[in-house]
Amino acid sequence: MAEEKPYLTGRTYIFRLPKGKDLLDALTAFCHDNQVKCGVISGIGAAENATINYFDQVKKKYEKITLNQELEIASLTGNVSIKDNRPFVHAHIVLADKAGNTKAGHLVIGTKIFSAEIFIQELVGEPKVRKEDKVTKLQLWM
Ligand code: ZN
Repeated sequence: MAEEKPYLTGRTYIFRLPKGKDLLDALTAFCHDNQVKCGVISGIGAAENATINYFDQVKKKYEKITLNQELEIASLTGNVSIKDNRPFVHAHIVLADKAGNTKAGHLVIGTKIFSAEIFIQELVGEPKVRKEDKVTKLQLWM
């Protein structure tokens, strides 16, 4: 494995995203608008519905999971890197229903915000760049 250079902490953001917006779209737009090219994201809140993906490692394809119900965003965790020369958010989410049962997966477009409190820590250094990995067929850091 290549030697990893350390990063310095850059700007730190803590903010609320508006009700009704798409969660992944809003996170990506924030990173694009503020030119956050590398960083870590965490968040909590609630969603009006959700769409998550599960990556089938044998088929090497994402399978969509649609949740048409109100949910707690028990945990949102992710990172920001560069894909196709633009800031790209990769996030996973744990969602809880009324009974406290959880579903979790890879966040995709199709999760409507009820409320979302977001923390983003920018990292300063050589941004990670995503490209398709031949073995896994995932967009990984090269
Ligand atoms: Zn993922």
